[in-house]
Amino acid sequence: MEGEYVIGVDIGATWLRVGLSDVSGNILRKEKREIRTSYSYEVSEQIMEIIDHLFGESKLDTESLKGIGVASAGPMNVNKGELVNPTNIPLDIVPLSGPLGEKFGVDVQLINDGASAALAEQKFGRGQGYDNLVYITISTGIGGGAIVDGNLLYGKNGNAAEVGHFTIDQEGKLTCGCGRPGHWEAYCSGSNIPTFVRMKLDEVDDDEGNSDLLKLTPEELDQFKSKDLFDLARSGDGLAKELVEELGRLNAIGFAAVTEAYDPALITVGGAVALHNPEMVLVPIREKIHNYTQNEIPEIKITKLEEEVVLYGAIARGLAIDS
Ligand SMILES: [Zn+2]
Repeated sequence: MEGEYVIGVDIGATWLRVGLSDVSGNILRKEKREIRTSYSYEVSEQIMEIIDHLFGESKLDTESLKGIGVASAGPMNVNKGELVNPTNIPLDIVPLSGPLGEKFGVDVQLINDGASAALAEQKFGRGQGYDNLVYITISTGIGGGAIVDGNLLYGKNGNAAEVGHFTIDQEGKLTCGCGRPGHWEAYCSGSNIPTFVRMKLDEVDDDEGNSDLLKLTPEELDQFKSKDLFDLARSGDGLAKELVEELGRLNAIGFAAVTEAYDPALITVGGAVALHNPEMVLVPIREKIHNYTQNEIPEIKITKLEEEVVLYGAIARGLAIDS
């Protein structure tokens, strides 16, 4: 039978999202479950369960499946179809294309989640009609995907446009999750903003103003979340606003490097930190980016595909199989 349906899978740190689409890109059904990662093959087994479930609910046969696109954070080996020491998942190797391809008898294509989101923007989002666009996520980590002259960049292992690991601080005061000093993600990602705040507070004189940040006990500082910083800034706390502004300057350096690297006409931005604080994240970037790039400044906009941008990209990748 000719394949008439496509599956897209988004493997996140917490959630596994699976969508069933027809070959015109209309999404018929989707499902989100908490990911299980106790052993290597559990991820692909869970994906199989959800695919069977989606096809069952739709009263369709998996025989009519054309292909599967799987998006995940890297690192990955797209040729082997597996994740290799993924940053998001506590497993060494996560085989995907092999077991899924065997079970359903179709081609399975793995794609970096940032690349996937860029593809989603071009096919379903704000990037429709653009040949040069970049997607940047500011979430637990920072990542991206780039389409240049209409071509999605993959790289030798599928890890092109890992922009979160651009070096933005040559002094390297903070260390990235990858172990290297000075990377963008070490300062501005959701999981690292609290470390950035603690570093800044160490440099501040205690009698400098009356910010609520200076009243935090050591225990409260340990529990401090990036959301707390943005909430304080929203409530008018002067020091919190200064730190948000400084994060904006660092983001502007990152966006400038992205602009120099890919010369995009449009940068769309997603990820929880940006989606929850669109103004406080984007305004300082727009104001300061020209200090760091000599290139024409791209449009910078929040994605309208929100939390599902990577899933949409995985479906777009599945749609591109065999064509
Ligand atoms: Zn890094």
